[in-house]
Amino acid sequence: MIIFGTRGYLYQLAILTLLCGHCGNPAAHTLRKRVTKFTLFFVPLFPVSTKYATQCTFCGAEQKVTKEQADQLLAQAANPHGGQQYGQPQQQPYQS
Ligand SMILES: [Zn+2]
Repeated sequence: MIIFGTRGYLYQLAILTLLCGHCGNPAAHTLRKRVTKFTLFFVPLFPVSTKYATQCTFCGAEQKVTKEQADQLLAQAANPHGGQQYGQPQQQPYQS
């Protein structure tokens, strides 16, 4: 019997001050990545979809962004302290 499915992972990539398109406040926004992974026997094998969004911490409005926009925001968020390294999820070798 083979058990497979998908599982969602949420990564918080950065916190940025952005002008919110919803409430109009220059508020802190979280930049998040949602990855859906294909799982086999509850072991995540590979991502099937990756989505990015920012969420305003002031009013809670979420806005979807493209990967390019997310990369740009991350570059903006890169701080000189260097403590905010975000790890690439490790590619798991495909097991057959
Ligand atoms: Zn807002």
